[in-house]
Amino acid sequence: MIAETIIAIATPRGEGGLGIVRLSGQGAVNIGRELFFSRPPLGSKPRYIHYGTLMDGKRELDQGLAWFLKSPRSFTGEDTVEISAHGSNAVLESVLHGAIAQGAVLAAPGEFTRRAFLNGRLDLAQAEAVVEIIRAGSRSTLADAYSLACGQLSALVDELKQILLSCISNLELGLDFPEEDNDEAGYNMIKPLLQQVLRKGESLIETFEGARRRQEGFAVCLLGRPNAGKSTLLNCLLGEDRAIVSNQPGTTRDVIEGRTLWCGESIRLIDTAGFHDTAHSVERMGVERARRTVAEADLALVVIDSCDAWSTAHAEMLAMVDGKPAVWVLNKSDLEGSADNLPQAIQAPKVRVSALLGEGMVELRNAAMGQLSSPRRPEGVAILRERHHDCLQTMVNSVSAAIRMIARHELAECIVVELHSGISSLAEILGEEVDEQVLDRIFAEFCIGK
Ligand code: GDP
Repeated sequence: MIAETIIAIATPRGEGGLGIVRLSGQGAVNIGRELFFSRPPLGSKPRYIHYGTLMDGKRELDQGLAWFLKSPRSFTGEDTVEISAHGSNAVLESVLHGAIAQGAVLAAPGEFTRRAFLNGRLDLAQAEAVVEIIRAGSRSTLADAYSLACGQLSALVDELKQILLSCISNLELGLDFPEEDNDEAGYNMIKPLLQQVLRKGESLIETFEGARRRQEGFAVCLLGRPNAGKSTLLNCLLGEDRAIVSNQPGTTRDVIEGRTLWCGESIRLIDTAGFHDTAHSVERMGVERARRTVAEADLALVVIDSCDAWSTAHAEMLAMVDGKPAVWVLNKSDLEGSADNLPQAIQAPKVRVSALLGEGMVELRNAAMGQLSSPRRPEGVAILRERHHDCLQTMVNSVSAAIRMIARHELAECIVVELHSGISSLAEILGEEVDEQVLDRIFAEFCIGK
């Protein structure tokens, strides 16, 4: 048990609204009572919400709510007091200073979660999920983080660990009775188990790329001739004036980016410079960058002015998006003379919109989402963190080595060593075998109060 009582403001300062001050440790109730006066007094009833007065010595500061969670039934596993007050800096800072005067110390970043881990309330993978939940920028990344927090990855990792342990017991049985020549029978028995661990490990590793993509967001670029209405469309899709809209051709010389959510997925919308050949050097650079942006994007929205006839610039854009997921956006459908002048040969979906009037946006989003394939997660578990990915890779390498050693009929002792190393990598994910520096690195990512 850690003796110090820590305190932190658990909501970012300057945000207004409500502020929560969190105290954790043996002294939480005594210190809490100095800061918050209520009847019955704070700490007399666990999990009871007290209405009372926040105090600065004998001076009343504000009114608020507070509650007490008794060890071990709290997030940290320690006695915990939380005080909810107005999110005023003056109130929260006074409570903080009052607690420090009573012997509490300021919590380090992530210290509440670190204590939860050290007190066995969470394993390390679950503790890391806290930071992923806070960072989640979309419903799908939140689902990834939440499944990590619920221990789905931990359960799978533990299952793999148990299989490897049973393989070791099997081999060790042979080592204890060498005269019975059990090696071969043992090898035959553990080989399919090791292959199963290998397959599961590899399929988990494969989910990392997809989870990364979901975290970064899908890159959707807008491509089109100057004046086709790309900036207007970008603003319309983002719902804000991010790109400068002008009827002077070539206004958008740089790449402009904005984030939005489509069907729960994070989308990075990227407006490129107008696509046309130009002698102007700044614009030429912009066009070159547009080509690169299109090449790297997951999807291209080819925006055309539907009053324009099909031209060589259009044909060039068609060539540029060849083999790439694309949606053709026939903009300015509100104008007389607008028409679908696209060649029949274009296979990609076409959507008529008016970016100016905001018409056709739902159809455009649906067509775009239809072109983006979302990588699925096996068994609802995805690898989000590089640390988990690297530990799994090390485990897979050890198990592959063990399988090769079995094929070469190598000594059981050597195979056992490989399998122990695989188990260590799995234990590292769960934090069963991890040094202080790794913990410091992990919890440094957290903010104060978490
Ligand atoms: P960009 O060069 O492709 O970024 O084009 P802009 O977004 O700057 O638009 C060029 C001009 O077309 C501006 O005057 C816009 O107001 C106009 N415009 C854009 N979209 C529409 C539309 O759907 N209908 C009409 N009537 N005008 C539009």
